[in-house]
Amino acid sequence: MEFIDLKSQQALIRETLDKRIAAVLDHGKFILGPEVRELEERLQEYVGVKHCIGASSGTDTLLIAMMALGIGPGDEVITVPYTWISTAEMIALLGATPVFVDIDPLTWNLDASLLEAALTEKTKAIMPVGIYGQTADMTAINEIAARNGNLPVLEDAAQSFGATHHGKKSCALSGIGSTSFFPSKPLGGYGDGGALFTDDDDLAERMRWIGVHGQAKKHYHPILGLNGRLDTLQAAVVLAKLELFDAEVIQRQKVAETYASQLGETEATLPMIGPGNTSVYAQYTVLSEDRDALQARLSKAAIPSVSYYAVPLHLQPVFANLGHVQGDFPVTERVADQCLSLPMNPYLSDDEISQVCAAMLGAR
Ligand SMILES: *Cc1c(COP(=O)(O)O)cnc(C)c1O
Repeated sequence: MEFIDLKSQQALIRETLDKRIAAVLDHGKFILGPEVRELEERLQEYVGVKHCIGASSGTDTLLIAMMALGIGPGDEVITVPYTWISTAEMIALLGATPVFVDIDPLTWNLDASLLEAALTEKTKAIMPVGIYGQTADMTAINEIAARNGNLPVLEDAAQSFGATHHGKKSCALSGIGSTSFFPSKPLGGYGDGGALFTDDDDLAERMRWIGVHGQAKKHYHPILGLNGRLDTLQAAVVLAKLELFDAEVIQRQKVAETYASQLGETEATLPMIGPGNTSVYAQYTVLSEDRDALQARLSKAAIPSVSYYAVPLHLQPVFANLGHVQGDFPVTERVADQCLSLPMNPYLSDDEISQVCAAMLGAR
């Protein structure tokens, strides 16, 4: 059984992939070739925003977005301690300070009820993350941001691309949305890549410049930037995969429903979806007080499972300078101690799902 099944997916679109890749080999425009713009146009339409800007990775999208917002030394950016390291890493890399806010016990995303207490004079942006495939309560977060000097809200949607919040797509829910095309993400490529989304013309232009060394036109650089472009070959791969994406999201949701219907008796806590949300189930993650025993049981039945972010960011040695201790973010720490992600991909068969559920329920 595959935890993430890229082979079945590839078999379905191999011909399109071959054609798309061959077209790039033929025209030879490996940097900012026509597929990059084609993908940006398709994605901005899909998400429902004015601008999409391809980028070299999800990590770089966060860096580019914060550079465009002018974030630097002395600034604070609010985010969560329960996420992949990139989110806080890019804040720190810019010389700013990541300020953590604990997660909501229901969705495991930024707890908006704790947000206002974390704001200071130095707060320059809020960066919620859509963990495991559903967005944070972006409505509440946007309201608080608007009430506090129109603070920019940057949605890290590396895992939630394709999800919705009150009918609007993730990446269209705040000033800037960003995502990743890392192969195992819901919309993944065959290498590194990412994209930024905004309705703001000025921000879009700055982010586009920053991704190409701050270049406004050929050999003219008004601002600092980096080499943050999306490869033409990756754009071609993601274009081919985009054809399957809507069907895959539906399949992921069906797998989640089947898990939920068969796991009624489990002592584990199943994923819960916040009000107004749909999830793309980047992961199907459960909580168990006896997580290690559960993982051992699954492993004995040859079922792969993963504990993501088992050491939350506030307890990572790289952030020791922030002075956090165990107990600072109790919900994060509980989820980190108890979380286990089960196999989740659009190509899991009913039989495989039943095997996972039998192992989950067996020998309790
Ligand atoms: C994967 C991920 C990123 C980084 O994306 P890369 O493309 O791997 O650089 C950032 N934030 C979150 C929440 C992620 O899951």
